[in-house]
Amino acid sequence: MADYKLLIDGELVEAASGETFASTNPGTGEKIADVAKAGREDTIRALEAARRAFDEGPWSRTTPKERAEKLRAIAQLITDNQAELSEIEALDGGGTIRKAMLADVPGAASTFEWYARMAEENDEQVELEGSPFPISQNYKRYEPYGVCTGIIPWNFPFIMASWKVAPALAAGNTSVLKPASYTSLSALKLGQLIAEADILPPGVLNVLAGPGGTVGEEMAANPLVDKTAFTGSTEVGRRIMQLASGTVKAVTLELGGKSANIVLDDADLDIAAAAVLFGTFFHNGQVCESGTRALVQRKVYDEFVSLLVDRAGKIVIGSQLDMDTDLGPLVHRSQVETVERYVALGREEVGEPICGGSKPDALADGLDRDAFYRPTIFADVDNKAKIAQEEIFGPVLCVIPFDTDDEAVAIANDSIYGLGGGVQSGNLDRAQAVASRMRTGTVWINDYHMLAPPRPFGGYKQSGVGRELGIEGYRAYQQVKHVYVNPETAGRDNHFHFAVLSANI
Ligand code: NAD
Ligand code: MN
Repeated sequence: MADYKLLIDGELVEAASGETFASTNPGTGEKIADVAKAGREDTIRALEAARRAFDEGPWSRTTPKERAEKLRAIAQLITDNQAELSEIEALDGGGTIRKAMLADVPGAASTFEWYARMAEENDEQVELEGSPFPISQNYKRYEPYGVCTGIIPWNFPFIMASWKVAPALAAGNTSVLKPASYTSLSALKLGQLIAEADILPPGVLNVLAGPGGTVGEEMAANPLVDKTAFTGSTEVGRRIMQLASGTVKAVTLELGGKSANIVLDDADLDIAAAAVLFGTFFHNGQVCESGTRALVQRKVYDEFVSLLVDRAGKIVIGSQLDMDTDLGPLVHRSQVETVERYVALGREEVGEPICGGSKPDALADGLDRDAFYRPTIFADVDNKAKIAQEEIFGPVLCVIPFDTDDEAVAIANDSIYGLGGGVQSGNLDRAQAVASRMRTGTVWINDYHMLAPPRPFGGYKQSGVGRELGIEGYRAYQQVKHVYVNPETAGRDNHFHFAVLSANI
């Protein structure tokens, strides 16, 4: 029996195969729960349920106001269960309890609130000019796609679930969501809470846990699906695009990054150092828009680098459930192994890191040292080095010197990615001039990582297609229909264009 069940067609169910998989606390290696493991059969059932709920069910015929009320009820449900959801999120994925309580859980609730507002505030129907035939009435209607699937990564499972489900439902679509296997619990818990509170009609929301190679592929390829939204690696994103092309589905992709955080010589170095450390090491660097390349102007380079090293050494590593911990375990020991491979590569390409470069020496009893890694900084890195070009997705910072603003922009843009970035400067005109030349979806000036529902988020270049959040994130779940009405009473004169075919019709 699974502790966490799938949500399919309004019911909390075991997998058809009866199979389960274990979810563990990465910090200790202990099992926290058995999770129902969906396969292709469960996925098809969920997609069929979502299809029925859209085609025949009441959801696509509800008013935006009715949907907004449901979304607000979900936001309230999240807030009412904040403590339990935060604990699940921290335990399962290794992020700190502080992050879960301050960012993940309230962030998910505010995402549902935001899309409730989007549904209410944006007219479904907008009048258009009658031209070229002035008697005609024209309007456009924003309509849902139908069945939308959402496939999400392990780094921010709860907030990513909200980014996929809330806009889909707000716009009148039905949804099938799949969290990553390392971190399925919070999304399944959300499904369970919504089902038990009986907020949505059956089939409107379905939540599956299971392997990307079967469940995920079906969600991207199946003809019952109208739109697929994916957040994860660029490599899998390419695969999703291919799978979706079979029936020409709409896709939005939020993919990898290797973002630059530019420190200009007029920056307040105290704040800039905090912005670089927060920008890189928050959640162990397992953040798509992490500023993992710090570009530092040569005039302040030495002073700035010593500030970084000094403060990186003060970051507290420990159990993610302890309120005093800054960094918990990485999501899995295999992620630590990836980081170790890149650090070994960095030692060949660049030399010895100026701090970190190993697992922590001592940890409290019961913690598995192999799941943790110290914040690691390589200095004087050439931007062409692999450690400066490839996404590591761990606590590794490359510091790169530059001389002029032009050079900083060129280095920042010398990347296949274009997700985020920062500019740290005491001169806002200068900072904004640099920001406007960076080829990325977000730039933070004198700050980092500040995302919120009203602000669109997404990638240039190989960091993705489309935007989430903002009004853009709402429109991404709607297609536009134009309706042209020529009143019958207009008579033959208003139909003279028929002659384009023939005067005899
Ligand atoms: P991943 O690409 O390995 O997996 C993401 C999801 O896709 C998981 O649910 C997985 O099960 C599923 N999946 C795997 N193979 C699949 C396939 N062939 N078909 C369909 N689905 C499949 O990524 P991850 O390791 O979970 O997460 C880390 C990556 O996510 C990083 O590259 C990071 O930059 C990216 N990310 C991007 C954003 C963003 O908004 N741009 C946010 C968070 C994470
Ligand atoms: Mn886990």
